[in-house]
Amino acid sequence: MSITQTPLLTAAIEAQRQAYAPYSTKLIGASVLWADGHITSGCNIENASYGATVCAERVAIWKGISENHLRQIKEILVVSPANPPWPPCGVCRQVISEFAHPQTLIHWSDGLSVINTKTLIEMLPETFNSQFLK
Ligand code: ZN
Repeated sequence: MSITQTPLLTAAIEAQRQAYAPYSTKLIGASVLWADGHITSGCNIENASYGATVCAERVAIWKGISENHLRQIKEILVVSPANPPWPPCGVCRQVISEFAHPQTLIHWSDGLSVINTKTLIEMLPETFNSQFLK
């Protein structure tokens, strides 16, 4: 693991313990390293309606946006109890893209180590972004 991955993994695991997942029973944690050096984290929060459920990655991102960490993601990590561990879903990839560069690193982990790392552009090629809204 790189020097930035260890605190990201620690933060994601701590957040994972707070997950509210009575329906899926899958406890997920995520952490974001922001351009100002701060790390925010989040857990999945499910809802009986299912549609109102939110992923750990988005909780971590929204926390960072609301805390004003320059709105620039340097790296993001998600930890899941699955084998193989889960990468961010498509909705989360889109949300990541709003606040990241194409080369931003996305890591996913089984809780012991980082199992895979890819860039945003690898995970979400042909990204829909603000350029299309002009
Ligand atoms: Zn997601």
